[in-house]
Amino acid sequence: MYDVYDVVVIGCGPAGMMAAIKAGERGLKTIVLEKKSRPAIKLSITGKGRCNLTNSASIKEFTDCFHNGKFLYNSFNVFSNLDTISFFENVGVLCKLERGGRYFPTSGKSQDIVDVLVKSVKKFSKIMTSCSVKSIKKNENETFNIYADDLIVAKNIIIACGGASYPSTGAEGDGYKIAKAFGHTVKEPLPSLVPVVLESEYLKELQGLKLKNIEVSLIASDKIIAKEFGEMKFTNFGATGPVILTISRLVSERIHNENMFLSLNLKPALSLEQLNQRLLREINNFAQYQIKDFLQDMLPIQMVKPFINYCGLNITKKCLQINKSEREKMLSAFLDSKFKIVKTRDFKEAIITRGGIATDEINQKTMESKLIKGLYFCGEIIDIDAPTGGFNLQAAFSTGYLAGSSIKTE
Ligand SMILES: Cc1cc2nc3c(=O)[nH]c(=O)nc-3n(C[C@H](O)[C@H](O)[C@H](O)COP(=O)(O)OP(=O)(O)OC[C@H]3O[C@@H](n4cnc5c(N)ncnc54)[C@H](O)[C@@H]3O)c2cc1C
Repeated sequence: MYDVYDVVVIGCGPAGMMAAIKAGERGLKTIVLEKKSRPAIKLSITGKGRCNLTNSASIKEFTDCFHNGKFLYNSFNVFSNLDTISFFENVGVLCKLERGGRYFPTSGKSQDIVDVLVKSVKKFSKIMTSCSVKSIKKNENETFNIYADDLIVAKNIIIACGGASYPSTGAEGDGYKIAKAFGHTVKEPLPSLVPVVLESEYLKELQGLKLKNIEVSLIASDKIIAKEFGEMKFTNFGATGPVILTISRLVSERIHNENMFLSLNLKPALSLEQLNQRLLREINNFAQYQIKDFLQDMLPIQMVKPFINYCGLNITKKCLQINKSEREKMLSAFLDSKFKIVKTRDFKEAIITRGGIATDEINQKTMESKLIKGLYFCGEIIDIDAPTGGFNLQAAFSTGYLAGSSIKTE
């Protein structure tokens, strides 16, 4: 014999759990199926183990920063960042606001967020771990057969399998296959919020160097398409760090068709003329010294040699010998050092997936599929993604809440 549920949620991440909490609270017989041996592994490692659960931004700012943000407008209205904070504070997890509008649990432990979500699901519903859903079939009587180790039957299904990033956490793109089998369009999943691979002869020397207060421009087909200010780090393959992860959202979707470059501005606070004046002053002060000596005052020490080589200058040259064209080369290297982008790193290192179930095939007021009655989606499986800052988890909570609230009771 098999059990018949009002709601089967596939995937015990933040989206699936919020959906199950809401459906269970409404008296619907609900179960969450999770392929891993414990719930919400990805959630437990978010925010470097601290879980940046939401952001203080307005609903407009939320929708503006999302790919397909308009689709999420209703979800954010129904369950906003303030609702997320109240939800967690009501179950005993206090939250604190940090730089950039980021909210974290005061305890600094993402596991606290996982634990209260699991406890809240279990109040009215069940969680079955180590249960991997292989396929789903819709029956003539409008119920669904869910094929895992055992057969499970449901009147409604919520697919909350996540995307394809960090596959070790269970998000391996299974939900895309299930949705495709129902005729849904899956926009090509691409790694996003991910380090980038650069081509540069100076990488070896720059490896491990962290740069703060720099500006990175992303250039595609000779046009600047994004600018970010903040921190980055060079690695053995290219670059990572906050500004790189943010611009990577635009790299993965264009890199196969366009020539892309990073342009680094090491002195974004100075105009070209201000920097020129500073160089003239420094060169004058260091007239009897070598070029590397004055650059040590203006650059991190690890960068001095590759910088001089990038400018095509002789490292032992005396400052008083620097001519106008050499000074202009240095100006350009300070304000616009270019690195060719080869590709992004793969899903194993991507914080989020760009792409997923096409938003125009999901009813944004309910999260129900427009193609299959009784089938719902929530969370990262949908073609939505945002920068870091707590936005992606808020989207998981909001869409999960909306799906769980929308399922019809008979
Ligand atoms: C390292 C890292 C740090 C991050 N930090 C933050 C942060 O601080 N703030 C933020 O907003 N976002 C952060 N994110 C992004 C955020 O974690 C995700 O957007 C969010 O977890 C998506 O939630 P979800 O429920 O849709 O999917 P997931 O959290 O991926 O959950 C999906 C679940 O479905 C299960 N599943 C998949 N297929 C099946 C199947 N066939 N059968 C049964 N179960 C299945 C998976 O095992 C998984 O448990 C981070 C991501 C990573 C990788």
